[in-house]
Amino acid sequence: MKGEKCGVFGIFGEGLDVSRLSFYGLFAIQHRGQEGTGIAVADGYGIAHHKGQGLVTQVYSEENISQLKGHIGIGQNLYSTCKVSNRKHIQPVIVKNGLLALAHNGNLPSTKALQVFLTERGVDIADHNDSELMAEAIAYYIRQGKKLQDAVAAAYPLFTGAFSILVMNKNSLVAVRDSFGIRPLAMGRINNSSGAHGVVFSSETCSFHTIGAQFLREVNPGEMIIVDEDGERSIQLERSKNKLDIFEFVYFSRPDSVLLGQSVYEVRKRSGEELARECPLDVDMVIPVPDTAVPAAIGYARAINKPMEMALTKNRYIHRTFIQPDQHLRELGVKLKLTPLYEAIKGKRVVLIDDSIVRGTTSQQIVHTLFEAGATEVHFLISSPPVKFPDFYGIDTPVQRDLIAATKSEAQIKEFIGATSLHYLSLEGLIRSTGVDASQFCTACFTGEYPLDIQERAQEVCFDLAKT
Ligand code: AMP
Repeated sequence: MKGEKCGVFGIFGEGLDVSRLSFYGLFAIQHRGQEGTGIAVADGYGIAHHKGQGLVTQVYSEENISQLKGHIGIGQNLYSTCKVSNRKHIQPVIVKNGLLALAHNGNLPSTKALQVFLTERGVDIADHNDSELMAEAIAYYIRQGKKLQDAVAAAYPLFTGAFSILVMNKNSLVAVRDSFGIRPLAMGRINNSSGAHGVVFSSETCSFHTIGAQFLREVNPGEMIIVDEDGERSIQLERSKNKLDIFEFVYFSRPDSVLLGQSVYEVRKRSGEELARECPLDVDMVIPVPDTAVPAAIGYARAINKPMEMALTKNRYIHRTFIQPDQHLRELGVKLKLTPLYEAIKGKRVVLIDDSIVRGTTSQQIVHTLFEAGATEVHFLISSPPVKFPDFYGIDTPVQRDLIAATKSEAQIKEFIGATSLHYLSLEGLIRSTGVDASQFCTACFTGEYPLDIQERAQEVCFDLAKT
């Protein structure tokens, strides 16, 4: 099963335009998934939904948003590499007969416990992915007569992995996060001018700014929050330990989101300052790879007192090159996506800053592009450490042998990419830039330390690389 890095949004509120607000909430977290999107809405009698492949702006029309009426809504943006086959897997998962809907951000590296549980009870799980299995397990308990919140609590021990989920039935909404809080989930409050108010949830706080809601707090790891006509209640399902995936700060989250009390933008800027401390260079200009690396480049350029130039222009209307299915398309994608500003680059010694190197393909192309545009030196600085380990918690990273830092030394990577020099930010530098204690993070992609047991998937990992 492929990992899926997704965005979820949920809302509960009488008198609010729930489907339209879900649309805007999902639009704000489009960066978390571009493969497909769906919204399910409940009105106290049943659940209606609309979903499809593509971007939020492509999938919904005025007509289908107006048709989704109700006071509870959940939605999801899907990110996955299994492009062709994933049409069926677009979320929210709707359990037969409109019993419940579920939206999941994360991934369960092992679904054995769920499969055994459901098979033993005669539930047909053919072709089910992890999110669908979770939904079926909750539905099983509902069919046994439990209320939604009790059904979620009963099924929770079967969920072995990373999950921030939103579940709803026709009259209640439940938000739950795994006990390590690997993927983010925030809670907010919304009031409109006619006095209607409600509770909102989103993978990222940037959704709240978009819809005019106020950020209240993060859903705690291992916590379940129930919202229904009696109001909100919180139940701590399991003892928890914060282990947010540090890659949320490095790459995934939008700069205007807040995680663990820290602005993503400020953290990225500080990572650039840390880079300047570790590797100050005498160059003419600093160029970010747009968009994620822009704050780090601002921090770096300021610290070394050199100009930052937006000398690579990004065409925003192409999906991330990373999710192209093959090498050929990836290479083509990069050329389509980033073009150099020849006038600014010619004859210059440049520092190029990116947030991470995964396979190295894009980085190689960009360095090549800068030399082609007349740069005399291209020093490549990365605002995070080498990615040596695959992810099993809901990010779409390739298998370990395709991670360039898993098979090549830094000197070899520099050669492969063709840069004048290469420097990765140290893990200590990255953690310092977050302003959060190291114990609060999952750093598995850099260190191979997986806080949550990856069970049978451990055979896909060579752990010796952690020492090199
Ligand atoms: P590459 O040189 O091919 O490894 O690509 C590096 C680029 O991939 C960097 O610009 C990163 O911002 C970006 N990147 C890192 N992680 C991901 C991800 N999970 N999905 C898409 N792009 C990513």
